[in-house]
Amino acid sequence: MKKVCIVTGGSSGIGLSIVKRFVAENYQVFNLDIASSNVGEFRQCDITNVKQVKQIINDIAEQNVIDVLVSNAGIHFSGNIENTNEDELERVFNINVKGAYAAIKAVLPAMKLQQNGAIILMASDQALIAKHNSFAYNLSKASLASMAKTTALDYAQFNIRANAVCPGTIETPLYHKAIDNYCQKSGANKADVHAEEAALQPLGRLGQADEVAELVYFLGSDKAKFITGSLQVIDGGYTAQ
Ligand code: NAD
Repeated sequence: MKKVCIVTGGSSGIGLSIVKRFVAENYQVFNLDIASSNVGEFRQCDITNVKQVKQIINDIAEQNVIDVLVSNAGIHFSGNIENTNEDELERVFNINVKGAYAAIKAVLPAMKLQQNGAIILMASDQALIAKHNSFAYNLSKASLASMAKTTALDYAQFNIRANAVCPGTIETPLYHKAIDNYCQKSGANKADVHAEEAALQPLGRLGQADEVAELVYFLGSDKAKFITGSLQVIDGGYTAQ
């Protein structure tokens, strides 16, 4: 029987690379996303809808052992605390934090019965450090680091591992949207901003989604069986500065 991995937000960027990575290892991969995709088994799902997430994951669990959950869906929002209104704060939290809560809570009953499971939360280097004009996003990603540690402690007794991956700046549609947004507001030139971003990284370039997917695959595998409650940085050296 194939091993099973559930990925949220697997239709684009890092999530899509994760889906492809697990498919390449012969996993059956379920992709829960609002946007459709033909890679893996797509399940239309708004991660902010806790009931819907539970229903979809219960349906998967009825037929399968769930080996791995990758809680990856997330959005970015630019703004300092004054520029972030209540609706914007709620939207970022609903997707980034409540969405992870919904997916993790839904897989735990099956993983407890199995006495096995790996959960990977997609946090960010912004779980460890703050970046300018990222009030809601910084806050949401720091929450995910805490969620990984808390889940690791509470469920270690069931042989369930939980780790957070903390990528630096990765070239995905989310990154391009954030840069476009910044250029629109500031009048800056996109090529210049892109080059400046690359120069800010000690390795002199941005990360790629495939590189993050490789780390996620490792954490989900038995090779990482003694790793839990950790924050795994993959940022080209950015947070070492
Ligand atoms: P992306 O925008 O390319 O992909 C995000 C995916 O999440 C999309 O497929 C989107 O449809 C899905 N999604 C959004 N809202 C959803 C909802 N309500 N329900 C279900 N799915 C939803 O973004 P990405 O850059 O690949 O980011 C993926 C994750 O990695 C996010 O959590 C992001 O915060 C994190 N991250 C990204 C970077 C980066 O530089 N790109 C760095 C660190 C962390």
